Amino acid sequence: MTFISCPSCGRCNIDLIKIAGAVEEKLAGCKKNITVAVMGCAVNGPGEASAADYGLAGGNGEGVLFMKGEIVRKVPMDTLADELIRLINEE
Ligand code: SF4
Repeated sequence: MTFISCPSCGRCNIDLIKIAGAVEEKLAGCKKNITVAVMGCAVNGPGEASAADYGLAGGNGEGVLFMKGEIVRKVPMDTLADELIRLINEE
């Protein structure tokens, strides 16, 4: 598993450090050959998130989940990490 997280910047609309930390922690030890991207905004985030096997891009109090280049669904910010993990574990 390869984990990617953006460095965050003024465009970030979610608690990126917390969400990225939670995702990374929950995926610790994951043996799947996947790339996971956690990105902070809807401007530059979707490109990187959709290029990864699984990703999320933050929006205004919510975020969009991606799987293999496709948008999966929007979810509230406080459930982003759990929903991304659920998506990965479903596969
Ligand atoms: S993805 Fe968005 S929030 Fe993250 S560093 Fe790039 S522009 Fe900033």
